[in-house]
Amino acid sequence: MSIKCGAHNCVHNDNNGNCYAGVVNVRGTHALTTDETLCKSFADQDLKADAEFATEFNAAPKKAGVNNIKCSACHCKHNDHQKCYAEDVQINHVTASCETFEQH
Ligand code: SF4
Ligand code: SF4
Repeated sequence: MSIKCGAHNCVHNDNNGNCYAGVVNVRGTHALTTDETLCKSFADQDLKADAEFATEFNAAPKKAGVNNIKCSACHCKHNDHQKCYAEDVQINHVTASCETFEQH
């Protein structure tokens, strides 16, 4: 039940594919393909310069798992009431979309 995220330029990423966001918001209410999903919690690493921002996220230094995902992609077969029940979730390294998305 782990998240593997290739978006190493995200402030929540440890550069090793692990995500440390407190909540991982995945968007895709109307998504029928992977490309239409998006990790909304993505934040560019340039924001690290903002001390307040960094402090906020360092307060939750726990590795995020699939159970930390809140996902609106209701057409995905792994989704039930905005929760994700996929075994593992892969986030795309370029677009931060959810590669584990599978249409019902
Ligand atoms: S899953 Fe989302 S919030 Fe977490 S490191 Fe990847 S892009 Fe960032
Ligand atoms: S696998 Fe489906 S339910 Fe899970 S995060 Fe990706 S799009 Fe959302």
